[in-house]
Amino acid sequence: MNKSKSYNRIKLVVSVSRNAATFVILLFFVWSELSSELYLLISPISGSEYLRLLLFTFIAGALFTLLFLPLDYYSGFYIEHKFGLSNQTTIRWFLESIKGMSVGIILLVPVILAFYFSIITFGDNWWVIFAAIIFVFSVLLARIAPIIILPLFYKITPIDDEDLRASITRMGSLAGLDVKNVYRFDMSKNTKKANAAFTGIGKSKKIILGDTLLADFSKAEIETVIAHEMGHYKNKHIIKGIILSTIFSFISFYLIATVFSVLISVFGFSSITQIAALPLIIPVSMFIGLAITPINNAISRRFEYEADNYAVALTDKKSIFQDTLRKLTDKNLSDPEPHPLVEWFFYSHPSVGKRIAAIEKL
Ligand SMILES: [Zn+2]
Repeated sequence: MNKSKSYNRIKLVVSVSRNAATFVILLFFVWSELSSELYLLISPISGSEYLRLLLFTFIAGALFTLLFLPLDYYSGFYIEHKFGLSNQTTIRWFLESIKGMSVGIILLVPVILAFYFSIITFGDNWWVIFAAIIFVFSVLLARIAPIIILPLFYKITPIDDEDLRASITRMGSLAGLDVKNVYRFDMSKNTKKANAAFTGIGKSKKIILGDTLLADFSKAEIETVIAHEMGHYKNKHIIKGIILSTIFSFISFYLIATVFSVLISVFGFSSITQIAALPLIIPVSMFIGLAITPINNAISRRFEYEADNYAVALTDKKSIFQDTLRKLTDKNLSDPEPHPLVEWFFYSHPSVGKRIAAIEKL
């Protein structure tokens, strides 16, 4: 088996096993009444159910983190090194993980409080209110992510290469995006992989290019990548993505609420507001997610094809763009031809084989 096939196979097996284990362990956690015991243990600390829920989630989350630490280290550090993709030291990996978790906790606290508020106040109709809150939250997050969250992890600086700036200005005048929206970020501190992204909405919109991409790719190659990201901007993919995921979140929270209220009595609880029962929401969401994930990914892959079309139309560099995609695939050890079922279910981007073939037809 070649290097990229075995790398991707390991990553997939780890991620599927991790999800399957989370699913089973959470059901066991509630069924075995360990969650009720944890709730009783923390109840004396505060009389507020909101505070109790935060504490309960924090302790249960910490236990899960410790439980999965060896697997996360294996997949996130050991395997990345084994395949020559990582630039991190062990300490750096731990620090980055802790930073990631801390930001995650800060973002999660308002979501958990909003969830509990919805369930306490609106009973079985909690899903409508919660989905509406999640919509507002995701718009806010899309707005602040490039300004507040990304800089916590990476140093983001303007593109300094004069030649590249000139070509971005030229392409940007056609796409309606200013050169001041294009930045570099120091992804090389963590990885040898190269990447670029379009992020943010409104005034916070940005194209960010990995320094690894800027270092190892020619100006013409980088231009095609920027043109692809401009394609995401031009086709309003972020806003469309938020609208679509809001529709999906209303549907999925409705389904989650329905299954959850049935499970409550199966597991011997009397009310959906009981904190010890709430961990069940996660396996239920994972189950509903099995249906939503392939639909979301299919839409995302469509967006990628649209951005590719735009890149070719803007640069008129079909074969350079194809070479760039091949080069990125090699560098990132992506699988150019994954199993069709794996691609259908897990891939947010079409496999590079399909992208190159689609570009050929343009
Ligand atoms: Zn893209």
